[in-house]
Amino acid sequence: MPSRSWFSKALLPWYTGNKRDLPWRNTADPYRIWLSEVILQQTRVDQGLAYWQRFVRRWPAIADLAAASEDEVLKEWQGLGYYSRARNLRVGALQVIQEHEGTFPRSHAGLLKLKGVGDYTAAAIASICFDQAEAVVDGNVYRVLSRVFGIVTPIDSSEGKRVFKMLASELLSKEHPGDHNQAVMELGATVCTPRNPDCTACPLLGLCIAQKEGRIALLPVKSKKQVVRIRHFNYLVIPSAKGLWMRQRKGKDIWQGLWELPMLETERSATSSVLLELVRKSLRTTSAAPWSVKKTGLPVEHLLSHQRIIATFWACEPVGQWRSPDEWKMVSPKELKKLAVHRLMERWMEKA
Ligand code: SF4
Repeated sequence: MPSRSWFSKALLPWYTGNKRDLPWRNTADPYRIWLSEVILQQTRVDQGLAYWQRFVRRWPAIADLAAASEDEVLKEWQGLGYYSRARNLRVGALQVIQEHEGTFPRSHAGLLKLKGVGDYTAAAIASICFDQAEAVVDGNVYRVLSRVFGIVTPIDSSEGKRVFKMLASELLSKEHPGDHNQAVMELGATVCTPRNPDCTACPLLGLCIAQKEGRIALLPVKSKKQVVRIRHFNYLVIPSAKGLWMRQRKGKDIWQGLWELPMLETERSATSSVLLELVRKSLRTTSAAPWSVKKTGLPVEHLLSHQRIIATFWACEPVGQWRSPDEWKMVSPKELKKLAVHRLMERWMEKA
């Protein structure tokens, strides 16, 4: 097979001259690199930078993060979504402290044993921090490679995952694996973007099959259509002189561990009589007179990767005796600011 060293030969000098100056590029500390990789799986660099800076200011070393509580980490992560990543970060930090005497494993296989670290993150840490020849494959890499090599194998198929991983490993510079990996991702993030890539600024112009054949918009190929689940959340805004009733989400559902207003989920958009019946059952109200419930404004849509949440906020006026469920908590305005809430709740709080 002819050598494909032309790929890294074109890419590495471009990376040296064009990479963005980001704080995690000036360190080989695996804790800080790990943090940046996990944050950047959630958001763009401009937003992720502020989160990264806040994390390293508050928890400068991995031992500091390991000593933090889950609530503290979730609060700092607030707004990024996919909160299991934040929980895993903390558990992974504990593993490094307790099982590896505070030193990160250097091998890809060792890194994979840390909670929440998958193939991508393990390859990124191993190559950037320890010069291991492990190729990363993320969305940017799929896009760049599928276009440069004109590959039509769907990236969300098991065959696609195998093909792209093999190609990325074959192309990887064995002398500079960390820079090579970062260069492909940087090209995908800044030049070979999903829409309107800036081909004139690309070091691979002239070598890129999609560009030569006018197939840029067709690549990469995805096979599956994502099924989106629609859910109706009814939030209860129950006024009190002391503050606001809130509850912490438990169980295996979305937003685990985060706080929100008390919520009743319905199959479809609820009428006030349906909601009243639910309130009566769940709060064991004793008064014959029903509560008054009134929709406040239009329902709010909130999109997650596989779910569309339609949230209705109900102003409730309790009548007679009622018992709040055990998981509810009366929260003062001061305490409210300290709670980790999900983005939908944050949007409501900003408005309210
Ligand atoms: S030439 Fe254009 S499409 Fe091809 S890799 Fe470069 S930016 Fe992407």
